[in-house]
Amino acid sequence: MHYLDHNATSPLRPESLSAMTHALAAGGNPSSIHAKGRAARAIVEEAREKVARLAGAKADQVIFTSGATESNNLALFGAVEGSLAEGDVSKNASGRITRVFVSAIEHSSVLSTADRLAERFPWLRVSRLAVTADGVVDLEGLRVALREGKGRAVVAVMAANNETGVVQPIAEVSKLAREAGALLLVDAVPAAGKIKLDFSLCDYMTLSAHKIGGPQGSGALVVRANSSETSVPLQPQLVGGGQQKGLRAGTENLSGIAGFGASAHSLEDGEGERARILHLRDHFETALKHAVPEAVIFGVTQTRLCSTSCFAIPGLTAETALIGLDLDGVMMSSGSTCSSGKVAVSHVLAAMGVDEMLAGGALRASFGWSSTIEDVNAAVASLVKLRERAAQKSKDTKDHSEAA
Ligand code: PMP
Repeated sequence: MHYLDHNATSPLRPESLSAMTHALAAGGNPSSIHAKGRAARAIVEEAREKVARLAGAKADQVIFTSGATESNNLALFGAVEGSLAEGDVSKNASGRITRVFVSAIEHSSVLSTADRLAERFPWLRVSRLAVTADGVVDLEGLRVALREGKGRAVVAVMAANNETGVVQPIAEVSKLAREAGALLLVDAVPAAGKIKLDFSLCDYMTLSAHKIGGPQGSGALVVRANSSETSVPLQPQLVGGGQQKGLRAGTENLSGIAGFGASAHSLEDGEGERARILHLRDHFETALKHAVPEAVIFGVTQTRLCSTSCFAIPGLTAETALIGLDLDGVMMSSGSTCSSGKVAVSHVLAAMGVDEMLAGGALRASFGWSSTIEDVNAAVASLVKLRERAAQKSKDTKDHSEAA
């Protein structure tokens, strides 16, 4: 089996598994004040420190959630609704969010939340920021957007794209947002552990454990709200018990949090792992281009995450390729991460203006801690075989139609 789909889910790291089994065996409710509760609390707080270090943040800025989908929902709904409450209380609507700008290549959990906000608050201006043909957010477009209209804005630009791996200019986005008094949400899910994260550049940062070798159903929102640094309090979306300073009610997912902390910790001295993954990714692309010169690699001119290669082979559809690769024991993905099960043209490639036929063949190989050179070689061999088969089929069809 050759698993090259780490951006969908990275296999559980042994250190995460071990932290999880320890937490499951320890049990206890982190809110209980007795010894067992205190031991559970210690597990949670230790993990919070580790996740904070991964994000370049402070531990008290980390809210554990059920994953990045929840985190993105919490950030956007929480910011807009929080700013409304703020406006009401102060009778001064200047802090109200009236505009939401999301890059067109965001994950669906950002795009759909923005769409839902537009439905819920018809006065809210929600728009998508264009990207260049190389998949980088158009800074000039953001500058213009921020200048237009009144009221506070919230901007969402991911640290790097999950399909192409293209790293986004967060420092520049942050500067523009700050100058305009806008809040910034950075979805750092695919970037975490691959590039250095700096929470000081933004107001909200999203993380997901299962993309870094932790468990599924565990994530975090790093948040500056409710501190003196921003005037927008975060409106909780899950209410009930007062866990996590009332920002996210519900008994913490002890083992999920422990596993998340362990995976974040394993990335602290991750230079060696990153170099190894980059080498595998580069080897994959060099071998592919050598054997299949017409292969197109998306975003190749830009700085990309070491983990990600998004490419297409003209004449080979993603659906045919995924089936053929799977038969050869090679697991990859087409289109966006979370829709691995269905083959649809990617909104990311569409936003980059990639030709629809070519986009229909887009595949993503994503590498991670458990990837090996054997995985890379098997993937390239399978792709070369599939490309030959597709070329033969198209020749047969042509010959047949000429004969007819
Ligand atoms: N953001 C990005 C960029 C992602 O790739 C994903 C997962 N595919 C998510 C958010 C959602 O993460 P989760 O699976 O933890 O809900």
